[in-house]
Amino acid sequence: MRQLSICNACRYCEGYCAVWDAIEFKSILNEGDIYHLSNLCHDCRDCYYACPYNEPEHDFKLNIPKVLGQVRVETYKDNLKPRFFGFALEKPILVTATSTIIAVAISIAYAAFSFGVDSFSSLPMTTVIPVTLFKSATILVYLYTITLWSWEGIAYWSKINQKEHLSVSGLGKGIRDAIFHKNFLGGGEGCKVPNHNSRYMRVTMHSLVFFGFITALVSISFYPDITGYFAIAYLIGSIAVTLGTAGMIYIHLKESKGSRSDVQSSIDYPFTILLFFAGITGIIVPVSFGTTLFNWNFIIHDALIIVVFLLAPFSKFIHPVFRVISLIKYNSDSLRLSQK
Ligand code: SF4
Ligand code: SF4
Repeated sequence: MRQLSICNACRYCEGYCAVWDAIEFKSILNEGDIYHLSNLCHDCRDCYYACPYNEPEHDFKLNIPKVLGQVRVETYKDNLKPRFFGFALEKPILVTATSTIIAVAISIAYAAFSFGVDSFSSLPMTTVIPVTLFKSATILVYLYTITLWSWEGIAYWSKINQKEHLSVSGLGKGIRDAIFHKNFLGGGEGCKVPNHNSRYMRVTMHSLVFFGFITALVSISFYPDITGYFAIAYLIGSIAVTLGTAGMIYIHLKESKGSRSDVQSSIDYPFTILLFFAGITGIIVPVSFGTTLFNWNFIIHDALIIVVFLLAPFSKFIHPVFRVISLIKYNSDSLRLSQK
């Protein structure tokens, strides 16, 4: 609150992202406003490098990306549903690693006990994972994730909404801004992470993960038809996810640690690494078709994807929901105020 009050007087960073626009909508910022601003921030760090009042040199000790990152994680914790799973955000490495090991172990045990280790490799794919099992498990997992995401999204919305109305146009613009990564670009300058010369690296890596994940998800929904064009689409999607997650990990390792919230990093790493391995095994799916490796890789890959969806509401993967809601609110507020 203190730091944003200084920014509200300074306003040098206007134009970098939606945060600086949204700050101007209110003369006094309350807790809901700060929550909203924290999820509008895409962590590009442009405002950090532009600011002459930064910690540790200046007495104001500002660090806007870091403080917004800390608040952002608080919004995840405050709105996580059901509350019982709050420990997942407290111990993200432990929870992600344990869930992954358990899921892979169950998958291997299922293969070994149901079909026998020796014959498993040579079985038809639809014997290993029957179509009805695949479709029903997929639908159940999607429903589970969408239900919890919606529950969390409603809780978050009730915190940031101050009886303002959403508009259809704001809804469309918010979704568009999220899909096209508008606020990753620092108002056109690009991100300053991992360094000043890599302006478009972060937006590129995040786009690879986002569009790769969607491409792979759509193409695998045609199971058991995962050959031909579907195999190519799955391969492209998986390569994109692998490259994108590897790039995001590289950026986190290289970037200046002082400009980023440690708690944000602690929940980013495990989920990004999980997605990386989901991407690698996803690449092997079409590549290994017809070989003895296929069934083992396919079943392990499915286990990783299920963990991704099961952990989505209690991990870094809450962020797309809160970000889209925040962008919709920002665009609705912006349109309403411009019409006054
Ligand atoms: S981050 Fe620094 S330069 Fe930017 S608006 Fe705030 S006080 Fe001004
Ligand atoms: S998106 Fe970038 S410019 Fe905007 S608040 Fe976050 S770090 Fe600063």
